[in-house]
Amino acid sequence: MNMKIAVYPGSFDPLTNGHLDILKRALNLFDKVILLLAVNPKKKSVFTIEERLSMMKETVKDLKGVEVDFTDGLTVAYAKEHGACSLIRGLRAVSDFEYEFQLSAANSFIDPDIDMVFLMAKKETTFISSSMINQMFQSGVDIKPLVPEAVLRAYQSKKK
Ligand code: ADP
Repeated sequence: MNMKIAVYPGSFDPLTNGHLDILKRALNLFDKVILLLAVNPKKKSVFTIEERLSMMKETVKDLKGVEVDFTDGLTVAYAKEHGACSLIRGLRAVSDFEYEFQLSAANSFIDPDIDMVFLMAKKETTFISSSMINQMFQSGVDIKPLVPEAVLRAYQSKKK
């Protein structure tokens, strides 16, 4: 039987517990999930690509069936090259939907063989976004319950 591979692309600037929840649930649906750092040139980043990749690798090191990778190209092209059939995305609110709907139409124009699979955020993580985490951290809010340990450490060492 063919191995079912999915790619979960994002900016992960930084990886949050919201992302992690989507990743773990995607693992229930696919044999392998590639957590893919895909550079979004429209977004100004807080962490460098190297910092983000290192936090992602550290966080998923004990998760079976997960790989971490990077692309500065199209995620659909990456998926095809790596034998993946689907792209995973998370949905938090109606505002996510509009962007994701457009992205999904664009992706299926580029490659109709790659499907997008959307997982709804859990109510506990629905307010978590990387930019919200950044704002909270800058304002002195304790972000420990919202991010993986490696991310918390990276913030703490940035502050020093
Ligand atoms: P991008 O710049 O590609 O949107 P992000 O890192 O912001 O990258 O998000 C990657 C994906 O994860 C997106 O589909 C986004 O909607 C989803 N996502 C982000 N935060 C959450 C969350 N708290 N719960 C569920 N999905 C989320």
